[in-house]
Parts: sequence; structure tokens; C-alpha cells
Amino acid sequence: MRVLNYIRGEFVDPKSDFWMDNFSPSSGEVIGSIPLSGEGDVDNAVMAAVEALPYWSSLRPLERAEWLERIADCLESKFEEIARLESLDTGKPISLSRSVDAKRSVSNFRFFSGMIRDLEEEVFEMEDATNIVKLKPVGVGALITPWNLPLYLLSWKVAPAIGMGNTVVCKPSELTPLTADLLMKVIEEVGLPRGVVNLVHGDGMAGSSLTSHPLVDLVSFTGGTETGSKVALSASPKFKKLSLELGGKNASIVFSDCDMEKTVEGVTRSAFLNQGQVCLCGSRILVEESIYDDFVELFVDSVESMVIGDPMDDSTELGALISKEHLKKVEYYISLAKEEGGQILTGGTPCVPKGLSNGNWMAPTVIAGLDHNSRCSTEEIFGPVVTIHRFKSEDQAIKIANNTRYGLAGSIWTGDLEKGERVASMIHTGMIWVNTWLHRDLRAPFGGVKDSGVGREGGRWSLGFFSEPLNVCLKND
Ligand code: NAP
Repeated sequence: MRVLNYIRGEFVDPKSDFWMDNFSPSSGEVIGSIPLSGEGDVDNAVMAAVEALPYWSSLRPLERAEWLERIADCLESKFEEIARLESLDTGKPISLSRSVDAKRSVSNFRFFSGMIRDLEEEVFEMEDATNIVKLKPVGVGALITPWNLPLYLLSWKVAPAIGMGNTVVCKPSELTPLTADLLMKVIEEVGLPRGVVNLVHGDGMAGSSLTSHPLVDLVSFTGGTETGSKVALSASPKFKKLSLELGGKNASIVFSDCDMEKTVEGVTRSAFLNQGQVCLCGSRILVEESIYDDFVELFVDSVESMVIGDPMDDSTELGALISKEHLKKVEYYISLAKEEGGQILTGGTPCVPKGLSNGNWMAPTVIAGLDHNSRCSTEEIFGPVVTIHRFKSEDQAIKIANNTRYGLAGSIWTGDLEKGERVASMIHTGMIWVNTWLHRDLRAPFGGVKDSGVGREGGRWSLGFFSEPLNVCLKND
């Protein structure tokens, strides 16, 4: 499967004719190739977006909302294809690709279509004048996405960006090009005006050429913290509008008054969904001392009951890791945990399904006995590895939860909602759930603090980020 760049409404080869292999995470086989785009390709895509901007930004919001609805309909008609391609490309279970990736990609377009349709201008009356706030497009947007939730995150950016009248150039991860390509095919099929959405495939060099391009006005980036800091540096000389959604090391705090059965189920899901490769995953589990032993026993049983297998099999609950390089990183952290004095309660070794020995496999791994300050307990591993710790008091739980450079998300499990809310407000993070996890209302803000990012997207925060407010002041008589 060879994918091409999409520029000015056409699928095109990279100018250099350089290509990269795309590997299946589960089998290790080459499943296709992608353009290794260079500066010339990026420049061509940015110019296409610049040319399309005057017409696209002149449309009424209602007209753009209708385009988003058409894209949603067309994506929905390809629901199963999205799920299949996402599992092939990422190694995640097909059940997850259906229930999360395909479903959310469609609903991102529908949701922002509805929001943009309902947009009203804010008005501030003075005694002698009326102020109207008009939300204008920012200009050309660079949208850069990671490999863990490829179309879910790309659609989360494309929909509000073009809905607010911007034109865009997308750069998906080189590891997961397939559903981004499908989205471009959908955009071609519905006949979206040429140049409104463009896409270049390639590695970090293409991303860096895009974020530093002088005609790019806005950068929305989701990825790792180290890359995010490079992106911020390259966007800063031109004061580009910037949103950074970065890494996390989220705590799941389990109090002794929790509903044990639901908590074990919720904490297992939050630890290992998508093989632990979700920025929101709860990778540090803090358990109140009085229930620590009981919780650990039930949690380990729950983890060991998860079905690891071929991503295309309906019964699979855990698939493969994204790449050989990422598997090596995860293995490194497991060996580091042993050096740091951790005990592996379960997992720690590859767990290879039959016939898939060249894939990137790791059993879900639970590590106990580590110091709260150890590297494995504070650094983002982004794989199927969690550390588990005891705490004695509310204050201590809060202190441990905050003991990391990250501040993205977290969860609290308790029978006392007042306590849940009290503790939640003491955790230095962007999002926190009580007695649930990854329960998202698309109207709510999404994003992190500290090294987890800058800015918020979601609902009106996305509309705000992808627009510039213009204050028109009309003097009465
Ligand atoms: P990554 O290595 O930072 O890459 C993210 C994207 O940036 C990819 O498209 C990548 O291209 C591109 N890129 C690489 N170098 C670049 C540069 N110098 N300038 C511009 N773009 C560049 O992250 P990843 O490994 O794909 O994703 C995992 C990370 O994403 C984790 O840290 C996870 O926590 C984070 N994440 C955060 C959120 C959130 O909402 N906060 C959501 C999902 C994931 P290539 O892949 O082709 O190199």
C-alpha cells in the first residue's frame, strides 16, 4: 500500500522520489511505503493552503459546517475500513479501533459541525457604543499528530481548524500514515475545495520544515514533550499561535472506600488501553495502605486475564507495540526498574501470539516496590508498564501524584465524591476523573499543565484556538 502526499486536491509523489517503508507492528512485515517529503513538498503544500485561504475564509460558518457534516457522513460510510486500517497500522485491537478510533473520528467532524453552526457573535453594550466580537480565521495551520490515535487526533484538529475558516497542512506520524490517507480520499470524494486540506507524509524533518515555514500562522502539535519543545522553538520567531498536547505520567489514586470490583476494572483499563500507549493512561497506581495487598492481588489477576493476540481478532484485548524502537524503550525501562529495586509482579517479558514472532510484543507489566522518585515512577514509558505504590494519607497521595514533571490527567477512585473532588482539585493536572477514566465530553477542555503542554483544545477552546477575535466597536449616532 503506497500512500501519496495530498496537495491542491491531488495525490502527488514527493519531489525527491524518496520513500520509507511502513511496517506492521504485529507481524513486522512491510505493508507499504510513504513519501519521505522534503522542504520543497512542504513549501508546495503550504502555498496550496495560502492560495485556498481567501475563498475558504470568505464562506459563512454555516456553509463550512455543512462541509464538515459531509466529511462526517462519508467517513461514517467507511467505518469498518477506518477500523481495519487503524489496527493494521498501529497494532491495536480491532474492537478498540471500532469503539474508539473510528467512532471518534466521525463524531469529531459532527461535533464541530454542530458547534460552528451554533456559533453566535458576542456583543458587549456600552452607553454610547456596541462592541461585536467576530471570530476570524488565523490563516494557514500546521497540524502535527502522533501514532497512538492517528485519525482520532487528526480529525480532532482538522475539523475545528477548517470549520473556523483556516486552511491546513497536516503531517501525520511516519509510523501510521494509512488513515490520514483515507481522510484525504474522503476529502477528495466529498469535493472539498482544493487546497483547504493538504497533507505531507514524512519524518520529523518534514514536521520541522512545516512548523518553521514563514507562511504558517498556527501550529497545533500533539506528541512527545521533547519534540514539543523543538516545535515551540521553531514557531516562536514568528510568534505563531501554538497549542502543544504532550506527554503524561498520570496517577490513578485508589482510596480504601472505593468499590473494589469497579476500581480494579477501571484501573486495569486505564493502565493498559492501547497497550498503555495513550497519553492519558494511568501508569502510576497509588493505593491506600489498608487495601494495598487485596487490591494488588485482584489487579494482577485482572491484568493476567487480558487476551493478547492478533489485532484483527475480535476477541483480542491487547495488541502489539508500535515499533521495534519503541519496544526497545519499554524493555529498557523494565530492566531499569529491576536495577532500581522494583519487583515484577506480572509480565516483564514479551508475550508473542502464534505466528506473529516478528511483531513488537510485550506482556502487560506491573512493577511494585519502587521509590516514588525512581525514574520508572516519574518518567513517561508510554507502554504496557505500570508501577504500583502505597500511600497512608490523602496528603501523601496528593504529594506522590504531583511528583512528576508532567501534568496531563489522572483518576481518583473513592466512595466519597466530596473527597474525590477535594483531592482532584489538589492535583496539578489538566484533566482528572473520579470513579471513571477517559470519559470525555467533547465540549470540555482538553490539555495539560507543566511539561504536558500549552493551551487547551476541545469545544469552545478549540474554536478559540483556531480563530482570532476581532473587536468591532460601533459608536451609536
Ligand atoms: P513524537 O515523536 O513527538 O512525534 C509526534 C509528531 O511530530 C509526529 O508526526 C512526528 O513525526 C513529528 N515530529 C517529529 N520531530 C518533529 C520536529 N522536530 N518538528 C515537528 N514535528 C516533528 O511523538 P510520538 O512518539 O509520535 O507520540 C507519542 C507521544 O505523544 C507521547 O509522549 C504521548 O504522551 C504524546 N501524546 C500526547 C497526547 C496529548 O493529547 N497530550 C495525545 C497523544 C499522544 P514522525 O513520527 O514521522 O517522526
